[in-house]
Amino acid sequence: MQITYQDLWTKTRDHLANCLTEDTFNDTFGEVTKVVKFINGNIFVLVPDPFIKSKINNMYIERINDILKSLTPDKLKFKFVCENEVNPEVKKENITTNNRLFINNLNENFSFESFVVGESNMFGYRMSLNVAEQPGVIANPLYIFGGVGLGKTHLMQAIGNYILDKDINKKVRYIQATDFIVDYSKATQSSNMDLFDEKYHNLDCLLVDDIQMLETAKKSQNEFFKLFEELITRKKQIVITSDRPASELNGIVDRLTSRFQSGMNVDIKKPDLEQRINILNRKALESSTKKIPKEVLVFIAENFTNNIRELEGALNRVISHSDVYNYDDITLERATDALDALLKYKKQTDKKTDNYENLLSIIANFYNITINDLISNQRKQTFVLPRHITMYILKNHYNLPFAKIGKILGGRDHTTIMNGCLKIEQELKNNKDLKLAIDTILKKCG
Ligand code: ADP
Ligand code: MG
Repeated sequence: MQITYQDLWTKTRDHLANCLTEDTFNDTFGEVTKVVKFINGNIFVLVPDPFIKSKINNMYIERINDILKSLTPDKLKFKFVCENEVNPEVKKENITTNNRLFINNLNENFSFESFVVGESNMFGYRMSLNVAEQPGVIANPLYIFGGVGLGKTHLMQAIGNYILDKDINKKVRYIQATDFIVDYSKATQSSNMDLFDEKYHNLDCLLVDDIQMLETAKKSQNEFFKLFEELITRKKQIVITSDRPASELNGIVDRLTSRFQSGMNVDIKKPDLEQRINILNRKALESSTKKIPKEVLVFIAENFTNNIRELEGALNRVISHSDVYNYDDITLERATDALDALLKYKKQTDKKTDNYENLLSIIANFYNITINDLISNQRKQTFVLPRHITMYILKNHYNLPFAKIGKILGGRDHTTIMNGCLKIEQELKNNKDLKLAIDTILKKCG
């Protein structure tokens, strides 16, 4: 039998009745019986007045959500709302019996409050906050781009969380671009668009993460274009993230990328040392009761420079090390110990990933052509050979998968890359000049 959100609250309430005295229970929870809404992992329960609401939030909320955790493996939370916070239709509807769980819930930890602001992300943060305050009005779509682990998903979900915090009746949907592809192909295969339409139309805010993943999916792009137009026309907010500027989404149809560009485009850069230290300071406070000396945080900030995910990973490692070996005073020496393996591994991988970005310009320089020539579709022999060499080096020296190389080289498919690599391998068997050229290029890459 399917358990409803109402059941979950009733059971939680029964638990409370068992642990509290009868008077306390009746005073606070006597009239708190009805679930009114479910959205994004939050189960909203009606309370009779603001006084009881703040009492529950101040004194019982953690216990309540702990009980909930023991009742269901799903990541759910109770939230408490007064009558005037719920719109009339919602109250009438009996939503608790047949509501499905949202597949991609927002992560509540991704909030504006937990986002550390510095020069690298100041503009992105401000624009996101503006959008969250006035969805659909000032910047639509909001297009956030930047490298991995720099906070794009965090910021986009902060917008969603903020909108929902202000108005629980808003329909906010977070998806990865790949979810869209899967949902659309399921819908077309079963010739049933109902579920698809229910999920994507009729939203107040759509958050699409990693839009570059749509590059290889032309049909989904068409469908996404329709959805995009519809939502924008109805002044519903769209937020998109991407690993690159819209102008560089080579595999996505122009009519979409030009729409992206006509919205508000913001980029997030890598944080500088000061900001990295600030972030670590904040995370250290949030995630451990142990005191972590400043010099340890500085050490991590100096060594993990690529992105914030990496910083978090290193910090967590230091903390778990102290837990596993059971010590409280985290010193620089112990932290270095804890990070030793990670740092060694990082040295190797950084070398490779850092440099492949230079590779294109090194090869272009070497052959006296431009990077654009290198990634273009022109079949002149003066471009084709350097292009194949690029494929070969990315495959054999940087160990990148064919698909990734295809993307780097302007959206080519993986067979094209494979064939290019094979050509060079063949040619290398007899051609000494080619070998010399490749060796020289590799030396330049360091
Ligand atoms: P992206 O989507 O750009 O790859 P994420 O948003 O997933 O990056 O961020 C990676 C991790 O770093 C997440 O745990 C996120 O909470 C954290 N993070 C990113 N930027 C910040 C920031 N400015 N302040 C605090 N935490 C951050
Ligand atoms: Mg992300």
